[in-house]
Amino acid sequence: MGVPSLIWPHQPVSRSRSSPASTSLPPASHQPTTIPSMSLSNPATDTQLRLAYDGQMQKHQCICGDNSRHAEHAGRIQSIWSRLHERGLRSQCERIRSRKATLEELQSVHSEKHVLLFGTNPLNRLKLDSRKLAGILSQHVFLMLPCGGVGVDIDTVWNEHHTSAASRIAAGCVTDLALKVAQRELKNGFAVVRPPGHHATHSSPLGFCFFNSVAIAAKQLQQKLSVSKILIVDWDVHHGNGTQEAFYSDPSVLYISLHRYDDGNFFPGSGHPSEVGAGPGEGFNVNVGWTGGLNPPMGDAEYLAAFRAVVMPIAHEFSPDVVLVSAGFDAVEGHPSSLGGYKVTAKCFGFLTRQLMSLAGGKVVMALEGGHDLKAICDASEACVSALLGMEVEPLSQSVLDQKPCENAVLSLQKMASSHWMCSLPELFLKKVAVMGKLVMVLGLKYVLLFENEIKERACLQN
Ligand SMILES: [Zn+2]
Ligand SMILES: [Zn+2]
Repeated sequence: MGVPSLIWPHQPVSRSRSSPASTSLPPASHQPTTIPSMSLSNPATDTQLRLAYDGQMQKHQCICGDNSRHAEHAGRIQSIWSRLHERGLRSQCERIRSRKATLEELQSVHSEKHVLLFGTNPLNRLKLDSRKLAGILSQHVFLMLPCGGVGVDIDTVWNEHHTSAASRIAAGCVTDLALKVAQRELKNGFAVVRPPGHHATHSSPLGFCFFNSVAIAAKQLQQKLSVSKILIVDWDVHHGNGTQEAFYSDPSVLYISLHRYDDGNFFPGSGHPSEVGAGPGEGFNVNVGWTGGLNPPMGDAEYLAAFRAVVMPIAHEFSPDVVLVSAGFDAVEGHPSSLGGYKVTAKCFGFLTRQLMSLAGGKVVMALEGGHDLKAICDASEACVSALLGMEVEPLSQSVLDQKPCENAVLSLQKMASSHWMCSLPELFLKKVAVMGKLVMVLGLKYVLLFENEIKERACLQN
């Protein structure tokens, strides 16, 4: 949507060689598909966290039936859902009734062709205009995978009977959570959903994603509730190219992504810091694109530095009405290089969640995106849900809080000195940012620490 092609300097980088996540779960075909009944004994109040989950989303799986060949598999959400139960977190939350996003809602982000092709199955296609569909279905968008299954690309499997329903339920769950939180019917929300969404573009699925659930939720907030300022934070290790595209010219949606970039050599290849938005949206697209490979892998110190120096100051300046989080957990330690390779701790994501809760009166909705190591995504989901519940969580150690980010991170953050945002900050801060490059050269890695007190004040980092 209005994204000039010149901002995409690289073709999407294939991740067909991505190693599958190991899993100790039984094969998907043996997994229970029944949905636990909703708790009625604990009526929701506006102070409660709501969870969104539906076992139907487990049915989206490759017809080869071999989870070990597909990193994005049903065991991901099943594991998280079980973990939240084991830790007693589910009993502290209400669960929203799931629904499929309507075709109209899907079309707020995606083309009609895309929606009809991927949002319908053989049964509900019968209800649609057969002439329109005939043209679309005659196009060959599916391919045979090496495993014998069907996909739209080498990573993104298609199940004729279940993918459209699962994708629409994921989008519907995130949308409903967002609408209810925005109206203060709920305090905040966490959506345990799949398939993920942030790579799906206006007219194309990509990287396990068919419908961009978070982008659709943001559009619905605009269209149904006239929400005027929405912040989307995307901390999945991959750049959310689809979400960036959807709001590239829209100043009412601030998109901030933290991702492994490596000069465009990490999937999907987009997300350079110079991609700042276009037209009236210029300055409302912020890419913290880490470069430098795994030398060393980015970890807590680097993500904390990004939040202190970039994310929270800009987010506070923007002052959103609602915060949506594309909560991929593939930056969490435990993922092989091809799927992330970073070393951020689960605990750190709980800490960052608490930071985001200082925005928008705490109206935060998180939606699972990527993350394939089951222990990592369970740990991180548990940390974030605990934070959303306002539970006392184990704090990050002082040594982690004081640790300097690595040199590659500092170089990456230097590129973030975006005049679009810093110009509205106080003069003192502006001057410091203006000389950031010199400071870094003179003082090495200490600039984040130099700014720390001021940023803490501005970003309410009193934890
Ligand atoms: Zn397969
Ligand atoms: Zn990812």
